[in-house]
Amino acid sequence: MKHSDNGFFGTFGGKYVAEVLRAPLDELEQAFSEAMADEEFLHRIEDEAKTYTGRPTPLLHARRASEQLGGAQIYIKLEGLANTGAHKINNALGQGLLAQRMGKKRIIAETGAGQHGVATAAVCARLGLECVIYMGEVDMNRQYPNVFWMRQYGAQVIPVTSGSSTLKDAVNEALRDWASSYGDTHYLLGSALGPAPYPDMVREFQSVIGNEVKRQSEGLQVEAMIACVGGGSNAIGFFSPFIEAVEPALYGAEAGGRGDAPGDHAVRMNGQGSIGVVQGYKSRFLLDLDGQVQTTHSVSAGLDYPGIGPQLAHLGEQGRIQFCSIRDEEAIEAVKFFARNEGLCFALESAHAGALAMKLAPDIPPDRAIIVNMSGRGDKDIFITARAIDEQQWTEFLHKEVQR
Ligand SMILES: *Cc1c(COP(=O)(O)O)cnc(C)c1O
Repeated sequence: MKHSDNGFFGTFGGKYVAEVLRAPLDELEQAFSEAMADEEFLHRIEDEAKTYTGRPTPLLHARRASEQLGGAQIYIKLEGLANTGAHKINNALGQGLLAQRMGKKRIIAETGAGQHGVATAAVCARLGLECVIYMGEVDMNRQYPNVFWMRQYGAQVIPVTSGSSTLKDAVNEALRDWASSYGDTHYLLGSALGPAPYPDMVREFQSVIGNEVKRQSEGLQVEAMIACVGGGSNAIGFFSPFIEAVEPALYGAEAGGRGDAPGDHAVRMNGQGSIGVVQGYKSRFLLDLDGQVQTTHSVSAGLDYPGIGPQLAHLGEQGRIQFCSIRDEEAIEAVKFFARNEGLCFALESAHAGALAMKLAPDIPPDRAIIVNMSGRGDKDIFITARAIDEQQWTEFLHKEVQR
């Protein structure tokens, strides 16, 4: 199923929110469906995507990497070349333009690692909208470079100190703000999850990735497509035009982290997650025995989310998407492999998809293709990758910087 059935994908999805949030969600749903039928609006998105985001992003034939692995031809969709360095801008831009069309003057958003906050702040600067980003205090301390850039783009970053002071608490604060501010405010949610209409809306704004791939891959015998899955926005956008067909095979790479123990990974599919309703939607979540959301771990800040978008949960249950988990060290190896063989700097999130391609390619004949979505580039990860790959020189550099 490509679109939701009244907000549901099978039994997943829905709109499980407090009464006060019904009105803004209904207004948004209405405005979204009107906008998507408005040619002028669609042209506006297309024009901004071309001139501001830098679309279409290329589909690269990774010849040397394919040769090294000795199997399928690997093609890489370079979303990392989009402005702000990842696919998140596609959704931020679409929702930013929609908010403007609705006459909203103020944008609020949650952010975990800060990537969605940066994309949102950039779009608000571009469109002249006021921007407020809610971010857990713990995350702000961990991700200062992103906080710095959000502020340079003119956003106000509000530290959230409730709960565990991380992403889920930032979402709660953003929802609280929206309940009393929706007259002039749009809540720009960052992934293909949350209450309806967000999963449908985010998929549509991200489906530009898959639509481009469809054109760019004409003539190729595509055996498999692979994307990493945090909340699921890059994956569902990349897969979107291929979902209804039976081919190619679609693979989601989840964060296997440092092991199988609770708290050490973010594997929601493959039996580890349980069905629940969290933050307005029904899906698979990592929950403890009391039904509380578990802590997660991943070397990549964008994949350590305890829930998964409802459409992906449904497509996983139906068998249309296969989910595999990739460990932290496999992701780091993939960063090194694609840097060395293609001169590409994969984001750690995207490197989970790259690592899965490295596993699958040798068993697929060389006249077939695998397409990997490189959801972002890895410049942002230097504090993690440099430490993991070259700890001594990196810490020496940091010491010298502090002493300067
Ligand atoms: C945020 C992020 C992800 C994970 O989010 P999805 O909604 O699952 O796409 C993946 N890759 C990059 C580069 C990100 O910034």
